Amino acid sequence: MRKPFVAGNWKMNTNSQSSLSLAEGIVSELKQLGTDRLDIAICPPFVYLQQVAKAVSASNVALGAQDVYYQADGAFTGQISCQMLKNIGCMYVIIGHSEKRHVIGEKDDLINKKLTAAINSGLLPIFCVGELLEEREAGKTETVVTRQIENGLAGLELEKVSAITIAYEPVWAIGTGKTATSGQAEEVHQMIRALIEKMYGKELAEDIRIQYGGSVKPTNAAELMAEEDVDGLLVGGASLKKDDFVAIIKASWRAK
Ligand code: PEP
Repeated sequence: MRKPFVAGNWKMNTNSQSSLSLAEGIVSELKQLGTDRLDIAICPPFVYLQQVAKAVSASNVALGAQDVYYQADGAFTGQISCQMLKNIGCMYVIIGHSEKRHVIGEKDDLINKKLTAAINSGLLPIFCVGELLEEREAGKTETVVTRQIENGLAGLELEKVSAITIAYEPVWAIGTGKTATSGQAEEVHQMIRALIEKMYGKELAEDIRIQYGGSVKPTNAAELMAEEDVDGLLVGGASLKKDDFVAIIKASWRAK
């Protein structure tokens, strides 16, 4: 039985005051929900992680970072290590987000190193994959997502991969207001689960959580979550509005 998991990716948004009030607001609204049926995380910018960590401590909202570097320490200007994230209370880390892949230019081999380092240090990665619009239109969705998963997980053994949540985020749906239909999401989620079965066997394929991400809103969360293989949501823009994020979480909680 897969426990649903909804995470908010704040990207490069909020400031010192608003990050704190958003986190406090979310914690207060979700107090009664508990953690038995649903996992919740928020992923603020690096510089606000520590104060948000305090706001979510002893709550049912976990802390995640938006990225990490794979080296443990040393001369890597501007980078943040897994241990630094662990030190300040991060449980999750987003790796391979499409904005890192397509805006910053991150490639599969770097994503693989980050996934490996994160798992080895005890962080739980949210591993993002997804095709561009032209790749979907050329019928290459399966090829692209398969390549991203095979390369991203290269060298990782079954027990390590069990720490991962995969987030299927079609790039054409991220921040565009264009959500994949629940049928389009389910089709790719099934394909990903079948691929994981081929790579690691049936047990892991049945246990691994696959989130959908791409313009999730309170109005489409329930329909997406009603799909059998959609185990959670990775929410960008709507996670910056307390009421929307809370509504998405409650809709997800009810849908499973
Ligand atoms: C994301 O940042 O992962 C995302 C899915 O963004 P949005 O919900 O804004 O499309």
